[in-house]
Amino acid sequence: MHSRAAIGIVAREIPGLQRSFIVHLSCRILLLFFLFAGVSACDRGPGDHQQTLLVFGTLLDIKAYTDKPDEFAAAVRGLEQTFQMMHREWHAWKGDGELVRLNRAIARGDAMRVTPELADLLRQAKRHAQQSDHLFNPAIGRLVALWGFHSDEPPAGPPPDASRIAALIAQAPAMSQLVFEENRIRASNRAVALDLGAFAKGYALNLAIRRLQAFGIGNAIVNAGGDLCVSGRHGDRPWAIGIRHPLGEGVIASVEVADGECVLTSGNYERYREHEGIRYAHIIDPRSGYPVRHVASATVISRDGGLADAAATALSVAGPQQWHRIAAQMGLAEVMLVDENGAVHVSPRMGQRIEFQQPIDRVLVSAPLQSQP
Ligand code: ADP
Ligand code: MG
Repeated sequence: MHSRAAIGIVAREIPGLQRSFIVHLSCRILLLFFLFAGVSACDRGPGDHQQTLLVFGTLLDIKAYTDKPDEFAAAVRGLEQTFQMMHREWHAWKGDGELVRLNRAIARGDAMRVTPELADLLRQAKRHAQQSDHLFNPAIGRLVALWGFHSDEPPAGPPPDASRIAALIAQAPAMSQLVFEENRIRASNRAVALDLGAFAKGYALNLAIRRLQAFGIGNAIVNAGGDLCVSGRHGDRPWAIGIRHPLGEGVIASVEVADGECVLTSGNYERYREHEGIRYAHIIDPRSGYPVRHVASATVISRDGGLADAAATALSVAGPQQWHRIAAQMGLAEVMLVDENGAVHVSPRMGQRIEFQQPIDRVLVSAPLQSQP
């Protein structure tokens, strides 16, 4: 595998900038010429435009290659409002939003009418949970809270008591226990506590791309800390991005992302609690109630950002031995796992697409399969 320069999360930004400068310069010369010739119009042509929002507690970088800066600005303003609303209403543990109220209703054994948007989000989450054999299980909010991850600060101290973990596991909350009557939702198990932290970001990235398209912005990349969706191209090239190394420094691999695709990574390196030298990551295996250890990161490429996000979490739980079955069940062909020892596991299609940016000791290529042992 040969290497090519990738800069930070999003590579190949520089040629576009230089090109737009040259275009503007030549445009001015042309303008002078045409002014003398009695022609007054000169189209400035497309260039890079970028805005950064602070939403979902993270920086969201929105970049467009467009000749419509005003439409771009208007789309971003609208998106900011939508994302603030999502953050407020669909937060798992903060405030008094729709999801917090739904969780309270479920705990009481009541049903609650939710917005069509939340009902749609939960229907999708239920489907992804079932396809992943419930390794993606957004009903385990109580476990996530027990481990201390329902907090802005990284949790401290020893892990929770084994007996408390076992008690929550015995309650077996699962998305299949959610019952939909139109947009009225209840759960047959009061221990269901919804936490969309592993899914909502991917859903929101897809939505951002669609919203930009509705404003006529067809070449864009929306990036939340390395999780991203793209539309169109970056001028005459595809958008190219770098995937962060979960164990080392810098970029592990770069990949060209096609129109409509999303790249989502779940990592054990960003949010974790540490006690006596052991790291307990924020991705929890719903079968054991304990944080995942065998995978440092899982990356998924798909046209469906929500699916990719849910799958990246599910595949982190599935680990090097079981990811093949879960990927096949979720309909994924492009998957990369970095395990705790730094070995990289890729599906054949992912292997063909990525270009490693640093030497990798072990690369294991194997296909998603229903019946992999
Ligand atoms: P990242 O935020 O690194 O992209 P994820 O997408 O995997 O990681 O989201 C992790 C969050 O999802 C956790 O903070 C927690 O709120 C929730 N979560 C943890 N384990 C699971 C799981 N097995 N299934 C669904 N949600 C989970
Ligand atoms: Mg996820």
